[in-house]
Amino acid sequence: MIIKNIVVGAGFAGSLIARRLAEEKNEKVLVIDKHNHIAGHAHDQYNEYGVLIHTYGPHIFHTNNKKVWDWLSRFTDWYLYQHRVLSYIDGMKIPMPISVETINQLYNLNLSSDEVGEWLEEQAEHIDEIKTSEDVVISKAGKDIYEKFFKNYTYKQWERYPSELDPSVIKRIPFRNNRDTRYFTDKYQGLPKQGYTKMFEKILDHPNIHIMLNTNWLDIRDQIKFDKLYFTGPIDLYYEYKFGELEYRSVRFEYETFFNKEFYQEVGTVNYPNDYDFTRITEYKHLTGQDIPRTTIAREYSMAHGEPFYIVPDKENQEKAEQYRQYAQKEKNVTFIGRLAEYKYYNMDQIVDRALELPLD
Ligand code: UDP
Repeated sequence: MIIKNIVVGAGFAGSLIARRLAEEKNEKVLVIDKHNHIAGHAHDQYNEYGVLIHTYGPHIFHTNNKKVWDWLSRFTDWYLYQHRVLSYIDGMKIPMPISVETINQLYNLNLSSDEVGEWLEEQAEHIDEIKTSEDVVISKAGKDIYEKFFKNYTYKQWERYPSELDPSVIKRIPFRNNRDTRYFTDKYQGLPKQGYTKMFEKILDHPNIHIMLNTNWLDIRDQIKFDKLYFTGPIDLYYEYKFGELEYRSVRFEYETFFNKEFYQEVGTVNYPNDYDFTRITEYKHLTGQDIPRTTIAREYSMAHGEPFYIVPDKENQEKAEQYRQYAQKEKNVTFIGRLAEYKYYNMDQIVDRALELPLD
């Protein structure tokens, strides 16, 4: 049997492409996913205590791209949430990313915005060429900020120091000399009001789309012929590790539910760069706005193996990924798209944009 379009992976990349093929081209699409659910790593669900949690860790949607926001808004209303993060440093919970409030609270100062700008310039060290994530911080805020906020968090998360990672990793985090303590400053921010999974149900709800869950591409590839394949899983797996394995980071979650309190912590996420073995604690009620007299938190432990959540942006993996990408260019009817298939640390909105811009020939 020849299937017109196959999409492997029902996350953002795969689901959006499936919808476009079904709607814009009126073509049949078979979406397969190895998981027992749609929505990829944006999947969310109610736990046994009725608290809505994100199965693969906190996903906060943020974008400056109106086209991206409007497209998703066809399938969901939004809970207009703005993420705030505190970092547990020297026994205090300090606003992260670095802002006027961070410097004033950490060093017990009362500086104005301009004075914090000057303070940061005094701490910053000149670096001719920014080659690593360590260079990013040292050149913007100096050694003490680097040691307290970034060095050990990064090691916990990646088993690598910032000096071993591409500048893009820590460039995700802004340095501000104003009083804005939000984690993101994008124009559009929020979470799907009924959850991500419900939004994906609507995106995939089209008579041309058929979904097969619990199905591993490698197990069925020999029995299926297709005109066009859109692959969103790990690119090294697709090629059966021809150029060796790429590394990924996984996360183990330790959940705890409190029945006698409305909230556990002040904000959605508290980072723990230097204390304990977990990287951060997220309390989902802050993110989802759920009104319920219990609360569930998740402590995140970064892992070298398991379900792939993150690509690893160091030199070795990036070179290997480039080999795969070059090799993949010879494919005429296979498109690789998404964080795992392109081996890029994309945010959700970047994937949405890529999926919407992809030419469907
Ligand atoms: N980071 C850090 N300290 C923090 C927060 C982030 O060192 O308190 C670094 C760390 O290397 C992390 C990266 O910045 O992996 C990106 O952080 P982000 O919050 O964007 O990570 P994600 O939410 O994607 O896990």
